[in-house]
Amino acid sequence: MFQRIAAVLLFCGLILSPAYPAAVDEGMYPISEIMKLDLRSKGLEIDPAEIYSTDRSLIFAIVGVGATGSFVSPDGLFVTNHHVAFGAVQAASTRENDYIRDGFLARTRAEEIQAKGMTARITESFRDVSAEVLSSVLPGMDFAARTKAIEKRTKEIVAQTEKDNPGKRAEVSEMFTGKTYILFIYTYLKDIRMVYVPPRSIGEFGGEEDNWMWPRHTGDFSFLRAYVAPDGSPADYSPQNVPFKPKRFLRIQPRGVDEGDFVFLLGYPGRTYRHSAASFLAFEEEVRMPYVVDWYARQIDLMEKMGAGDRGVALLHASRIKGLANTMKNYRGKLKGMKRLGLVERRREDEKALQRFIEADLERRERYGTILTDIAAVYDDNRASFGSEAILGYLGSSVNLLGLASTVHEAGIERPKPDLEREPAYMDRNFPRVRQRLMLGLRNHYEPTDKAVFRELILKASKLPEASRIKPLDEALGGDFSETAIGGYLNKMYAGTRLNDSRFVEKLLEMTPGELAKVEDPFLDLARALYPDVLELREKQKARRGALDPLYARLSDVKELFLGKGFIPDANGTLRLTYGRIKGYEPVDAVDYSPITTLRGVIEKTTGREPFDTPPALAELFEKRDFGAFEHPRLRDVPVCILYDTDTTGGNSGSPVINARGELIGINFDRTYEATINDYAWSEEYSRSIAVDIRYVLWVTQKFGRADFLLKELGL
Ligand code: ASP
Repeated sequence: MFQRIAAVLLFCGLILSPAYPAAVDEGMYPISEIMKLDLRSKGLEIDPAEIYSTDRSLIFAIVGVGATGSFVSPDGLFVTNHHVAFGAVQAASTRENDYIRDGFLARTRAEEIQAKGMTARITESFRDVSAEVLSSVLPGMDFAARTKAIEKRTKEIVAQTEKDNPGKRAEVSEMFTGKTYILFIYTYLKDIRMVYVPPRSIGEFGGEEDNWMWPRHTGDFSFLRAYVAPDGSPADYSPQNVPFKPKRFLRIQPRGVDEGDFVFLLGYPGRTYRHSAASFLAFEEEVRMPYVVDWYARQIDLMEKMGAGDRGVALLHASRIKGLANTMKNYRGKLKGMKRLGLVERRREDEKALQRFIEADLERRERYGTILTDIAAVYDDNRASFGSEAILGYLGSSVNLLGLASTVHEAGIERPKPDLEREPAYMDRNFPRVRQRLMLGLRNHYEPTDKAVFRELILKASKLPEASRIKPLDEALGGDFSETAIGGYLNKMYAGTRLNDSRFVEKLLEMTPGELAKVEDPFLDLARALYPDVLELREKQKARRGALDPLYARLSDVKELFLGKGFIPDANGTLRLTYGRIKGYEPVDAVDYSPITTLRGVIEKTTGREPFDTPPALAELFEKRDFGAFEHPRLRDVPVCILYDTDTTGGNSGSPVINARGELIGINFDRTYEATINDYAWSEEYSRSIAVDIRYVLWVTQKFGRADFLLKELGL
């Protein structure tokens, strides 16, 4: 494996970066770049080859779990954030066994319970397939055809790779838009179980009020375990399964770190837009993000009201509210940051300089002269139809039963096609997960909320201008959008449907298209009526991508010429490394934040009411100063959270924070409010990430959770 990776590394390096300055600290470096970074001069004490490029490198200890986690024992035990495991904790919780409120601890392996919906992937190897992918694009193809050709070729590469590597999962990731494509091979584990999850009052201490904020006092961690079949192969949940043996796990440094120390993170950052055009940023700032903030706020408000008097209902909504609130506050932070920094204007200025460079040479002008205006034209088109496109999208994603009906309907059309010709969600390799998600979603269905959300979207749709109406909705309501008409329509829909019955949905998913066509259900009928609009929208999106991809590819070529250097591809959900130091910052004039918080701060914030309702047993431990081995020598208290200047984004949640000697000292879970803007522009001045200090993790686990046996498993 090592040789395979090393050979690929050399090959990739040629393509990814001619040479970028060694001193730049911005960067979520693809693993192909690690050996070029001179991490020793930055403060790393181990051989960089230990991180990546031997058969037992640290990268094999990193798991992608939607966000990130890392193995900490030879028996498949891994640690991630409380908020990353939250959906699974919710799925396992009932009024009687409220693991969200009370936490969960398995004292034996037999007591570990399934973390439903969770999977874990480990990056095994990668290979550049840009030439293969791009050879599918033929001259004269229109924009949508271009996107489809790339999708098709990608699917073929993935299918062949999975055939050649039984039991593995393959994915092709676009690194530089329209330009570089890397094939990754993953080990993909499907039986994940909960081991220790602290109560929400620790794991989410401070809730939304403290989310994206510093100073922070949240114990955002959970322990889980990955299982495989007795022969070591990845398998679905089964009581016969045995703990997975990772090639590498991280050793823990129980003495933690201190201000100024070098740290690095490995993880799966989701998406950044550092190479996007000013016209895209303007679209985000003026159109998309404000819309999403409003819509999410409205949904949260509805759900909170529904759950106010009933814990059972609140539990059904818990995970969804959390996700929406997290994005909403992130976007608010971004919008504020964009304004504060004048980000769009700054990028316009950069683009003006680039344009002058382009214009200065005849050949360049011919090749690149209209790139920026061509890109802007695509976003203009997006702006013009955003209102109706957003509603159409949210009808499928925010209204439970309509989303379900749409998937069932489309499955009937897509599933009978040859596997490689289907939309990705309906391919054999993906459909079981889609199905599982549908069923889990149905468990959280609460009709009054679904109805209320649907009502809101109908009202939004009623205000669309004539040219972009959603006709099936107009027809369903006969053009009458009065309160009474909408109320009557919704009552009829929900009274007449059977899609809220999971057994019925299971049956529908097994039907032939002919059988399915005969099923009458008001939501299925609406999904059928909306389907042409959905297809049209998808085609439009593919055309936009087909237009943008080659434009961005050329933009990055000319930028490279202009700047005289290569750069790092935007985050795209693939494994990356970032490094920095434990460091505070000044968010505003005369405020100086130090980078380590302590237990004292938890107690100071405690009000006894959510989200500051510290468990009394934890407060007692503080009273008694029962800090065990985890007291910070200078602060004379247990460190709770730490701050550092690495380059992270969503998806880095749960990333191990590792010291210069390659030991685990924290678990990343957030950024500061000012750093939400990272996704568009990173700066040493304001970009800070937040982790729960490993000493707090260990202290809570040992003293509060009384799970000494886990510390033993961690080798402590
Ligand atoms: N809280 C984020 C996440 O959920 C981490 C971040 O965006 O910094 O991935």
